[in-house]
Amino acid sequence: MNIQWYPGHMTKTVRMMSENISLVDVVVELIDARIPYSSKNPDIDNLAKNKKRIIVMNKTDLADPAKTEVWKKWFEAKGFTVILADAVKGTGVNKVADTARTLMKDKIEREKARGRLFVPVRAMIVGIPNVGKSTFINKTVGKTTAKTGDKPGVTKGKQWIRIKKDFELLDTPGILWPKFEDEEVGLKLAMIGSINDNILDTETLCTEYINLMMVVNPNFIKNRYNVEFDTIDEPHDVLEKIAVSRGFIKKGGEPDCERTAKIVLDEFRGGKIGKITLEMPEDIHEMEAKMVREEKEKKAKDAARKAEYKKKNNR
Ligand code: GDP
Repeated sequence: MNIQWYPGHMTKTVRMMSENISLVDVVVELIDARIPYSSKNPDIDNLAKNKKRIIVMNKTDLADPAKTEVWKKWFEAKGFTVILADAVKGTGVNKVADTARTLMKDKIEREKARGRLFVPVRAMIVGIPNVGKSTFINKTVGKTTAKTGDKPGVTKGKQWIRIKKDFELLDTPGILWPKFEDEEVGLKLAMIGSINDNILDTETLCTEYINLMMVVNPNFIKNRYNVEFDTIDEPHDVLEKIAVSRGFIKKGGEPDCERTAKIVLDEFRGGKIGKITLEMPEDIHEMEAKMVREEKEKKAKDAARKAEYKKKNNR
């Protein structure tokens, strides 16, 4: 699988991200509550390792609330402060300023003890494409605030938005890359509609989605589309059943799987089938083990290729 929307050149992106992170006290990472693991950047923990961290689980309106709570606890156990949000409605958005100030409490008190009257806290929003960064910033900014303009020590062109008297947000979000070497992550990002370029055709993608749903929420599929199946059935057969049930039949009498696939995916993305979370913390070990395995295989292949090359050139 080849994900093309990786933002520019790796080195340059990482450098810019590090520069921006060095300007703030708190890094606010947005993730998609439907796929909290797959929508989290693999490198941000390292890039922001000396910073206070907030994870915003966004799009909670589309995710399974009970599973969101499990994930929230899971991230909290890892030391993150978690905010649940729906950036479109604005839920959770106004918690960022107070949460950031609470995280910075010790520093603020230290500075105040030294006689500083005003200790502003600065934060930036980061996240992979489509998690809702712009929506979140727009909602945070609302109607009240004005941009604070360039300040000394700030890379030229950077704008700080004063949200509250003592809290400022960098006006442009940091776009992070996903775990793009992991095929399963790519699939899930495609399912939620985060990747638009044609990695997979709609029918194949929908078949993968049904395959996952047959384990995660089989009843959602059964009830919405009025179909019956067993977990061990072929997902493409289920897609055909949905086509028949919906009356999507081609001229020759064949089920129109392509049309059905498009609709089924749209209904999932729009939250019409229900609030769904596609992965749980216990899936992670398996996914990571798979990634390590693939990485090892790749290394072995590279080594073999190098050895082959050497052999040829020594001859
Ligand atoms: P960015 O690429 O991270 O800046 O993402 P955008 O802010 O452009 O949002 C991507 C899409 O997700 C847009 O269609 C938003 O309307 C939608 N979106 C953002 N936040 C939410 C949310 O909390 N719930 C839902 N349902 N949609 C959201």
